[in-house]
Amino acid sequence: MSTIAENIAKVGVRIREAAQAAARDSGTVKLLAVSKTQPAGSLRDAFAAGAADFGENYLQEALDKQAELADLAITWHFIGPIQSNKTRSIAEHFAWVHSVDRLKIAERLSAQRPAHLPPLNVCLQVNVSGEDSKSGCAAEAAPALARAIAALPNLHLRGLMTIPAPSDDPAEQRAAFARLRTLYERLGAELPLDTLSMGMSQDLEAAVAEDATWVRIGTALFGERHYP
Ligand SMILES: *Cc1c(COP(=O)(O)O)cnc(C)c1O
Repeated sequence: MSTIAENIAKVGVRIREAAQAAARDSGTVKLLAVSKTQPAGSLRDAFAAGAADFGENYLQEALDKQAELADLAITWHFIGPIQSNKTRSIAEHFAWVHSVDRLKIAERLSAQRPAHLPPLNVCLQVNVSGEDSKSGCAAEAAPALARAIAALPNLHLRGLMTIPAPSDDPAEQRAAFARLRTLYERLGAELPLDTLSMGMSQDLEAAVAEDATWVRIGTALFGERHYP
């Protein structure tokens, strides 16, 4: 087994154990392999070991890997900050965007989604950590924003995403994810949502305990990242 295959197996065990501890069906927690800065060959290894969904943060890097891996049936997710001038290419080349945090970006993605593709799946990214976290809309702004995004024709608002301020304290981790879950449940009363994108290598157990449906895992699968 390659190291990546071993890591995928280990993360699978962590997800199953966390789901069991929370009395959840582990099939409701999906693995998003976060592959930013990792070479295409590592994604190929991960795909061979069963990963089918990959999350990328940097557009040009993602497009290069998509071209190199065009022979694989990968579902591509964009999870990084989005500049306006990148929306067209994101709308054309991804199935999911987890990092929508303002209406202008959502409107552009909807307008630029090619007609031959199904609606783009999106999550509204919410800041649940106040000033400690840089990206995501304010929790108070989320309901109105979610309604506006849900009304756009070529987007399918699936749910909410967050990146909490890093913490080693499991109770603090859970508290941040609980804030997103509470917001999700409130919004779910009026919108058909099915996705909570939360949890990374350090805090996936806390996220699963608070009902995460996508955990976004990079380091625990691929090892340390090497930024150019
Ligand atoms: C890099 C990244 C991750 C993965 O983080 P790890 O700690 O390496 O698991 C998850 N989500 C987002 C949005 C990221 O940018």
